Amino acid sequence: MSYPTVILKSGKDQSVRRYHPWIFSGAIKKIKGTVNEGDLVLVTDNKDEFLAIGHYQIGSIAVRIISFENVEIDGDFWKEKIKKAYKLRQRFNLAESDDNNVYRLVHAEGDGMPGLIIDYYNGTAVLQMHSIGMYLIKEYFIEALKEIYGDKLVAIYDKSEATIPFKSDIKAENGYLYGDSNIQTVVEYGNKFKVNWEEGQKTGFFIDQRENRKLLAHYSKGRSVLNVFGYTGGFSVYAMSGGAKVVHSVDSSKKAIDLTNENIALNFGDDKRHEAFAVDAFEYLNEIDGKYDLIILDPPAFAKHNNVLHNALQGYKRLNIKALEKIKPGGILFTFSCSQVVSKENFRKTIFTAAANTGRSVRILHQLTQPIDHPVNIYHPESEYLKGLVVYVE
Ligand code: SAH
Repeated sequence: MSYPTVILKSGKDQSVRRYHPWIFSGAIKKIKGTVNEGDLVLVTDNKDEFLAIGHYQIGSIAVRIISFENVEIDGDFWKEKIKKAYKLRQRFNLAESDDNNVYRLVHAEGDGMPGLIIDYYNGTAVLQMHSIGMYLIKEYFIEALKEIYGDKLVAIYDKSEATIPFKSDIKAENGYLYGDSNIQTVVEYGNKFKVNWEEGQKTGFFIDQRENRKLLAHYSKGRSVLNVFGYTGGFSVYAMSGGAKVVHSVDSSKKAIDLTNENIALNFGDDKRHEAFAVDAFEYLNEIDGKYDLIILDPPAFAKHNNVLHNALQGYKRLNIKALEKIKPGGILFTFSCSQVVSKENFRKTIFTAAANTGRSVRILHQLTQPIDHPVNIYHPESEYLKGLVVYVE
């Protein structure tokens, strides 16, 4: 197959030779042939030596690499890749397990498929494409999913409307690519959740916090727990099953709070230990002096780009100061950042500054990250985005 060729400037082949999956527009010397957004392109060094095959895109990341070998990129190629991703999840007991039927099947660069996210919710696969290249070949993904899941596949939902680059001419619309299925009840480590991919945030659920929620359950026994930025109550349900005395959930979205109440009822019936509040996190935190001995802070990404990094870090600092000031002596804080541009070091420094600000003795108990179904491609450190600290506050 002959593809247009992207020829790199001298020296700019180094990062590709180290398997980094992005080619920035500044690294390109010239393009041979006509190329449209989303097309497959060959990437060569400036002496015409083959380096990789990728999807071309207009923007600062010009090529997202999908193969470092010169192979045919067809339906079978994608099927194999997705099958490999599935096997990993199966091997580590996320897929086909009795007490878990929700997991991320494809984590973009982390699974060697830049621009593609597939989340699996008990029979429904939710696809989210972040590049035109991936968007144009969704038929392949449908075929692969049908083959992998067989009769278990109820529906495939495409949720790319907000994630397809806005500069492209393609107007993506959310909708079913196969079957039709409404809100689904999923089971995560034995805990039940209603997931609404049509209306919910991201693909419907924050699967990436699974292991951290499990750890939280372990610390919840007998404690009064405050779950801030709780979304649909993921951490709250685990705190309840871990034996918390009291669990309060806070989120500014009324819809999220309604679903939180539903999720609590789904697992525990009418349990008076739990209450949920649709209010602003910063305001709520002002009024909680000495009320809680376990607080979770899992805010949305404060920074989406490097140029707002400073403001984002200030935001994390302000938030954490409030929680660290007000938590009971002997309390535990689970604090997170999911901003890709905030490094582990930056996040830790921010929590250090917040702690110093309060003058309390703070010790790190755990350093948390994303789970195995959100694997980090070792050649692409940017795929590590979730950072968390569990600290003990004297
Ligand atoms: N911890 C959740 C995911 C949190 S996502 C889980 O495990 O599923 C971040 C949440 O923060 C969203 O639900 C969003 O509605 C909420 N949010 C954003 N800004 C907020 C604010 N200022 N106050 C309270 N909640 C806010």
